[in-house]
Amino acid sequence: MLNKPLTLLNGTEVAKVHELALSTKISALSTKPHLVIIQVGNNGASAKYIEYKKRFALRVGAIVTHTQYEDNITEDELVKNIKTYSNDKSVNGIIVQLPLPKTIRPWIILDAIDPKKDVDGLTSFNLRHVYENNEILLPATTKGIFTLLSHYNISLDGKNVVVVGRSSLVGKPTALASINRNATVTICHSHTKDLASITETADILIVAVGHPDLIKEEYIKEGAVIVDVGISVGDDNKVTGDVMASSISEKADALSPVPGGVGPMTIVSLFENLLQAYDLQNRK
Ligand code: NAP
Repeated sequence: MLNKPLTLLNGTEVAKVHELALSTKISALSTKPHLVIIQVGNNGASAKYIEYKKRFALRVGAIVTHTQYEDNITEDELVKNIKTYSNDKSVNGIIVQLPLPKTIRPWIILDAIDPKKDVDGLTSFNLRHVYENNEILLPATTKGIFTLLSHYNISLDGKNVVVVGRSSLVGKPTALASINRNATVTICHSHTKDLASITETADILIVAVGHPDLIKEEYIKEGAVIVDVGISVGDDNKVTGDVMASSISEKADALSPVPGGVGPMTIVSLFENLLQAYDLQNRK
């Protein structure tokens, strides 16, 4: 029997479609959505991601204010500054670029963001709504994964979903939101014994670890859908995911590759959240 060819879940192309829809909606608004990006310190990767967001904003017609603080800023000062933006009616969305310096507790800072402006979906308020299956603003990477799957008519309902990675940023919200979409969910992490014996039960395998080529053929079930979230940048600047694409291509049905999968979906989802936040704030 011939194998079904692998479907590439093309985040770059799907993100373009969503970007166009965003531009059209934003161009019809009398005041443009305004995003504030808070950066603390000088993390090189953060600077790169902020640059991507600024460029995206320019393309879709949103306004970005990028505010950078020294890494010796105190929690109190940072909270005070974020609350000022939270109370500023001209600001529709606020993101705090993570990671923060170790001296600053992220949850204290994130909870200074007005939940209606929390376009990263990481305040306790918005995460509790995911927990309660009453989602408002979903974390951007999680939203991007589901938007991509939905574009290819891949439903989570009744499926066995395995999420590898349990971070607060990606793994846990993605697992919870998968339960909300009626999947049966298993979460794996660095203490999981015999990872392959669990990942090979997945109809949909979502991998968010940051270890190049962690997932190979023997880790997956025949016909599985694989979503690679991992990003590792080599010395040669080559971007690699957590899944060895060449090894799984004959066995999986679909793969969201790195690069060109979840990455572009995350950024477009962030700006979809900005527009949703704008609507929430302007709702009569
Ligand atoms: P993180 O906070 O470092 O979490 C990594 C998770 O992987 C942890 O839960 C860790 O387990 C688990 N892990 C580590 N080694 C493992 C192993 N051998 N087997 C199974 N699990 C293992 O990272 P993150 O913020 O969630 O991000 C994960 C990856 O996604 C990174 O590469 C990041 O760059 C990428 N990312 C991509 C996007 C995008 O838009 N495409 C967005 C965000 C993140 P423990 O909890 O036990 O330590």
